[in-house]
Amino acid sequence: MNKPIILVVEDDAPVRNLITVTLKSNAYKFITANNGESAIMQASSHNPDVVFLDLGLPDMDGIEVIKKIRSWSNMPIIVISARSEDNDKIEALDAGADDYLTKPFSVEELLARLRVVSRRLAVMQSGNQSSVFTNGSLSIDYAAGCAYKDGVELHLTPMEYKLLCLLAQNIGKVLTHTFITGKVWGSSMENDIASLRVFMATLRKKIEAGSDVQYIQTHIGIGYRMLKVE
Ligand code: CA
Repeated sequence: MNKPIILVVEDDAPVRNLITVTLKSNAYKFITANNGESAIMQASSHNPDVVFLDLGLPDMDGIEVIKKIRSWSNMPIIVISARSEDNDKIEALDAGADDYLTKPFSVEELLARLRVVSRRLAVMQSGNQSSVFTNGSLSIDYAAGCAYKDGVELHLTPMEYKLLCLLAQNIGKVLTHTFITGKVWGSSMENDIASLRVFMATLRKKIEAGSDVQYIQTHIGIGYRMLKVE
């Protein structure tokens, strides 16, 4: 795959420069926007592969930009937020963002996030039409309704299987508690989130047992993500 084209949306010049210099020195192509309106225009005319989006823009809330882009595209969006409150991140993720970076962030963090969404992009571009999902030594046969680790069937409860499929279908993306419980239980009451923690812990134990490979990443106070394993 060619290196993706990245749209950098940031009104703060020093932060924008840090990002573009980092991208340039790692041979990524990029375009920039310094407000929401121009971000939406650039996204629609250049169809970038990944968007880095600051939430605090001068003309509109970054959440609005996410909603607009999501009305026509699934391009990965990584939110950049100076606000450390989890609520903003959760709102952005629920609006369709893939991941988030909190200012101040390091160049290494920025590149790591980019690698995660690039892998998700590769999965999206491969069409992913198959009824069998594989990630490292983990596989799911959707048609058979079974999950396997190293070819051995995993004994998952129906709830654990449902959670695993949801994470797999959104590999690389951070899913919020509300999103997951809404999909799995059809509601998101406080006690659903508490049960989710329990189900997730047993699921992780089953799929990560006996290896140091991490398939599911916990985002405290936010949600979970399945990582692409090489
Ligand atoms: Ca800003």
